[in-house]
Amino acid sequence: MSALDALEARVVACRRCPRLVAHREAVARTKVARFRTWDYWGKPVPSFGDPRARVLVVGLAPAAHGANRTGRMFTGDESGRWLYRALHATGFANRETWERGDDGLRLRDAWVTAVGRCAPPANRPTSGEIAACRPFLVEELGLLRRLRVVVVLGQVAHAGFLAAYRAAGRALPRPLPRFAHGAHHRLPDGLVLISSYHPSQQNTFTGRLTRPMLDRAFRTARRFAATDVTR
Ligand code: SF4
Repeated sequence: MSALDALEARVVACRRCPRLVAHREAVARTKVARFRTWDYWGKPVPSFGDPRARVLVVGLAPAAHGANRTGRMFTGDESGRWLYRALHATGFANRETWERGDDGLRLRDAWVTAVGRCAPPANRPTSGEIAACRPFLVEELGLLRRLRVVVVLGQVAHAGFLAAYRAAGRALPRPLPRFAHGAHHRLPDGLVLISSYHPSQQNTFTGRLTRPMLDRAFRTARRFAATDVTR
C-alpha cells in the first residue's frame, strides 16, 4: 500500500469530530426520498485523483447527500457536476461524469481534496473541525511530490489551505495572499495558488460563477503546472 493510500485509509476511519460523526451517520441512516435506495457512504471522504498530480484542488467539505452518499469527493451533487465538467473540459478528467463513484472517472495530473472530510450540518464545518482535519491535508502536501499548483475553491478552502501550508513548515508570504476569483499568487517555495469561487449552487445559480470562469481557473492551473519552477 502506498503512503497516500495508507493516509486515505486513516481518513476513512477517522472519528475525531463528534458533531460531524453524528451528522454524517444520521444523514446516512435517514437519507432523502430521491436516494432512498442508496447505501450511503456515511464516513469521511478520501481524496481522489492522480498520485502524480501537479495540480491540487481543494474544496470545503462533502455534501450530505453528495459525497457523503457516494464516497467520492465532489461526486453526486451539482458542485461536482460543475467541477468535473470543468476538469474534463481542461483535460484533467477522462470523462464528464459526477454522479456515482463507479462511473470510470479518472483524473490525470489532478488530485481533489478538501479542508474538511466529513459532511457538516448546513455545509459549514466549524473552525475547530477544519483544524482537526488539517493534519490530513498537511500530510498530502508532503506526499504529492510533483505538486506545482493549488486551486482553492472558495474562501474557506483558501484560508484552510494556507493554514495547512504553514503547518507543513512552509513559509508564507507577507501580506498573505487574499482570496479573489481568478487571482494567482506564487508562494515562496514556487507553488502557485489560484483562487476560484466554489461551484456551489449559491454561486452558480446566481451567475457569480460561470462555466467560462471556472474553466479559465483550470486552464491557468494547467499553464502553471507546465512551467518549471524550483521548489
Ligand atoms: S472532519 Fe476530518 S478530523 Fe473531523 S472526523 Fe471527519 S475526517 Fe476526522
